[in-house]
Amino acid sequence: MTAPADPVPAGLWDSLGWEPTPEQLRQLMALQQQLRHWNARLNLTRLVDGDDYWIAQVYDSLWPWRELLNGPQPPAQPLRCLDVGTGGGFPGLALAIALPHARLTLVDSVGRKAEAVKAMAASLGLGERVQVRWERAEATGHASSCRGQQDWAMARAVAAAPVVAEYLVPLLRASGRALLYRGLWSPEDQTCLERAAISLRAEVERVERIDLPGGRGVRHAVVLRPSAPCPASYPRAVGLPAKQPLA
Ligand code: SAM
Repeated sequence: MTAPADPVPAGLWDSLGWEPTPEQLRQLMALQQQLRHWNARLNLTRLVDGDDYWIAQVYDSLWPWRELLNGPQPPAQPLRCLDVGTGGGFPGLALAIALPHARLTLVDSVGRKAEAVKAMAASLGLGERVQVRWERAEATGHASSCRGQQDWAMARAVAAAPVVAEYLVPLLRASGRALLYRGLWSPEDQTCLERAAISLRAEVERVERIDLPGGRGVRHAVVLRPSAPCPASYPRAVGLPAKQPLA
């Protein structure tokens, strides 16, 4: 039998400036149990227990969204978000719980991870708003149902920033934004990403920094916005973005 969910660390929501509703908290707790269940079979992540789960998974997924989480009104149209390289479902599943007006597409190139995430979403009652695609991001970027359609495209811990930018930018609608979850972020990282962004017809809009609670380290959220339609040649063929990064 799966162990009960661990308690939320004291003050966690205060530092996020947002608090889940009782239903969202129940879902976040159920997600931990689902993660444990699937992790025992697939080794999805080592961050499943206690603060590892609540801070390094849930909080780390949600902190770049503080503004939206605390926003007054859900948009008239559901927000369309896509998580590339979702792995065990982060940040995508945490976001689907926290933003009940969002529709999420979660992509991973490993079939058994995609299957597990799909099963987790279904068991959490998110099946209608969460779609899971088992494919490479290079293919997603050319799929007509995904390309140019997203309000937000994001990736955490998937590849170097210029590689991730090539996966994400083609997915954005004109008003959309790409969110790159990064750990440390240097001026050199910024220069490389800015160079890559030129080819993709995008630019770095802002970089936010945070110290995770509990001394869990520094995180950066790097946001890109399109400046013109992304050339049809991007993303390049499978493997090329990583082998020959744009920068
Ligand atoms: N985003 C999750 C997280 O932060 O916990 C998982 C990170 S894991 C280190 C990287 C994931 O990206 C893996 O599940 C891998 O299969 C996936 N991935 C890597 N390159 C990919 C690509 N080109 N297309 C789709 N998925 C990819």
